[in-house]
Amino acid sequence: MILDLTTLYLVSALVTGTSGVLFLLDMRGRPDPALRWWGVAFLCAISPALIYAVAAQRTEFLVLNPFGNGFVVAGSALLWVGARSFNKRRTQLAMWLVPVALTIGLPFVLDHPLQTWSGFPLLAGWVVVFNSLAAYECLRAPAPRLRNSAVLAGAWALGAAFYAMRLAAFLLYGPDDPGFAVPFGSEATTVAVLMLIVVSSFSMVALGKEVSERALQEAASRDGLTGALNRATFTRLAETELAQGALNGAPVAVLLLDLDHFKRINDTHGHAIGDAVLVGVAAAMARSIGPRDLFCRYGGEEFAVLLPGASSELAHVVAERMLRAVRSIAVGTPEGLLRPTTSIGIAAGRSGATDLTTMLREADIALYRAKSGGRNRAMGAGRDDGTTRAMLA
Ligand code: GH3
Ligand code: MG
Ligand code: MG
Repeated sequence: MILDLTTLYLVSALVTGTSGVLFLLDMRGRPDPALRWWGVAFLCAISPALIYAVAAQRTEFLVLNPFGNGFVVAGSALLWVGARSFNKRRTQLAMWLVPVALTIGLPFVLDHPLQTWSGFPLLAGWVVVFNSLAAYECLRAPAPRLRNSAVLAGAWALGAAFYAMRLAAFLLYGPDDPGFAVPFGSEATTVAVLMLIVVSSFSMVALGKEVSERALQEAASRDGLTGALNRATFTRLAETELAQGALNGAPVAVLLLDLDHFKRINDTHGHAIGDAVLVGVAAAMARSIGPRDLFCRYGGEEFAVLLPGASSELAHVVAERMLRAVRSIAVGTPEGLLRPTTSIGIAAGRSGATDLTTMLREADIALYRAKSGGRNRAMGAGRDDGTTRAMLA
């Protein structure tokens, strides 16, 4: 098979350009900075094929090759920059602009830029480095990992491996030996890179959609004011947790919190202050529980908590911690600092022997006892559950 290099370059620029335009069109309305960096990477990827196509025409045009190489390095580096910003990590401009400048400039200083292979080791070296870093960055994305970031990691690792082998063959055999030219010459490389660009563009678009879907799911599972889980999501997750614990009859506890005299807070200070109290309480609760525990805004000024694996004693300790955390909240009002309090009802049981509805009902009865016992305290459902009397701050 004989591949005409100029045609290959032009096809490559055309396919890359088309993928890039489709990517940029899809990207509109998805304000993720990672996608923006990858959009610029696409623009960089179109240029080398065009530059190499012109440089292949006449010997004196070979001076353009280092610029084509610079765009290849920039494209590869921007994959990494995008992947980092995907993981909420910023990158200094110099970290990728310096390698690009070196790739373009060094051949003019050290070598003769009119050679076909001028600066090739630099180009290949940087591509190996940046593609490997980009693949690594995709793999260290926070859990749960998105399916398409694993695909991108695989594609970019393959790209790094290809350029590493290309570099090794170049250093081992030299540019004119068939050991280098047949498997790793410009023709084979253009085809391989084109395949990687097509796979990357497809996966990047799919990744953008996955990110949007996850953001929507996240928004739909949370209460808009406090950021706590909403009741429906809490119920679903808590029931799953109880079903898992049922296998070994693990202990479990449910807390129900209801802010004290909240209507009075609204009536005295206004709804906005009431909302600020709710936000503060949700933050205080989040600080008081462990990573496996769940909490939600159960209703207006009521919150529910599931403590998997918690005995009645531990549930009382957590409830006491929450009482303290809520008491430490101070919301500024024109009338001075407002210090809210809450009452907590506790239900403790064993997974398999009870269910969520029963536990919530028991916690509600306990909550009623805490309210009628004077508020600002936690009480258990059973007679022997004890009372945690609040120490007034
Ligand atoms: P208790 O100590 O017995 O619980 O008294 P309370 O005043 O807290 O109880 P009540 O159930 O009478 O009042 C709850 C109030 O919570 C009434 C409602 O206006 C207010 N509320 C519910 N949702 C919100 C909200 O999203 N923002 C604000 N600011 N207030 C809310
Ligand atoms: Mg209430
Ligand atoms: Mg209340």
